Amino acid sequence: MKMQHGDRKIAKDEVISFVLKEVMKEKVVVESQSELVFLVNRRLSKADNAYSVSAQRLRMIAVKTPYIRVTVETREGKQPEKCPVCLHALKKRKMKNLRGKRIVYGYICLRCGFKAEGTSTLPRKYVFTYLHAEKRKSHK
Ligand SMILES: [Zn+2]
Repeated sequence: MKMQHGDRKIAKDEVISFVLKEVMKEKVVVESQSELVFLVNRRLSKADNAYSVSAQRLRMIAVKTPYIRVTVETREGKQPEKCPVCLHALKKRKMKNLRGKRIVYGYICLRCGFKAEGTSTLPRKYVFTYLHAEKRKSHK
């Protein structure tokens, strides 16, 4: 029996993670977050019409899913605070300059490993890569 109500249902993380992996196995590289959201939602809706996932939630799940790498192209921001990939607080990267003074030269996210030179921390474009692709056997 099918449940009948108008609300969008929230798919569990594991379900999204599974569908995400299926999509990434086929595509290997997806160079747009909106494209990935579209592909995952299309597949989710095949399983159950009411399921859908938001872009931000999908990216968070992608960060935690093994064999999927999320990289971000960034642009300059004024006050780097949050990681553009996982929204965790950023830590300053410091080094000594020629006069021996410690200066901030970039930022790092201790949760997902995002690194920025200078204040280039505003997301411009997300790229998703399936990391098992290179291990596929070729038929030579
Ligand atoms: Zn992060």
